[in-house]
Amino acid sequence: MSSLEGKVAVVTGGNSGIGYASAQALKAHGATVVISGRNSDRVNQAASELGLTGVVADVSDLNAIDHLVEEVKAKHGQIDILFVNAGIFSPAPIGQVTEEMFDHQMGINFKGAVFTIEKFLPIIKDGGSIINLSSINAYTGMPNTAIYAASKAAMNSYTRTASTELAPRGIRVNAVNPGPVSTPIFGKTGMSEEQLNGFAQAIQARVPLKRFGTPEDIAKLVVFLASDDASYITGGEYNIDGGTNVNPLLVG
Ligand code: NAD
Repeated sequence: MSSLEGKVAVVTGGNSGIGYASAQALKAHGATVVISGRNSDRVNQAASELGLTGVVADVSDLNAIDHLVEEVKAKHGQIDILFVNAGIFSPAPIGQVTEEMFDHQMGINFKGAVFTIEKFLPIIKDGGSIINLSSINAYTGMPNTAIYAASKAAMNSYTRTASTELAPRGIRVNAVNPGPVSTPIFGKTGMSEEQLNGFAQAIQARVPLKRFGTPEDIAKLVVFLASDDASYITGGEYNIDGGTNVNPLLVG
């Protein structure tokens, strides 16, 4: 894998799960990394564990994104890699979706992602790499995920358009679609321990490779897409899901 030496990377939601593992892997490959997140204690703790800079910025607050960009610009000038990872998973059945739930889910997963890119764009170097963390839920009909799935499907559509519009600047834009990955995200849904265990078992049974992914599995793909080894890849989407998206009716 090409070194990321000399490159500056920003990872939103870098204090936990996939973002944390990706920040660690980007740094291990030589990049200077800045992480953001919305909880100051968690951001500061992760930043000190990883030995990098952390900035508190809620992506659903456009002023907070402005502040993040200003901090990064003041310290690094420009960036090479933007990993748009911050997101939440708020399952709700159709018929019980409130306007507040809709705005919260879309406000972070889609609007937050779009304005992260809008606001970083002026300081992304020509030839840079934007990686959007989507989900295979963008393609599945998993019950209770209508709004979450739509937020990710919107991201994939946005990624395709952004890749053609930003191609003249040599900026590559790709989406990563994980399947189930062991991170704290599910514990934040309000489900009980028992519900979470049942949910995890039911999901795992549907994964042909019979396991949840690890944040490190996803981080390896993120590092590749960030690197010059992926210099001819833009507008792509990469399922990384143990085969889940092929939706087998029978799994041996
Ligand atoms: P996680 O809960 O461990 O991490 C989510 C991160 O996003 C945290 O750092 C959190 O602080 C940050 N975040 C959430 N809301 C934010 C906000 N308003 N402003 C700034 N930061 C915010 O979960 P994860 O599983 O690592 O999730 C990362 C991404 O991966 C999400 O976009 C999620 O939708 C996506 N994803 C996860 C899975 C999975 O199975 N874990 C599968 C597919 C996609």
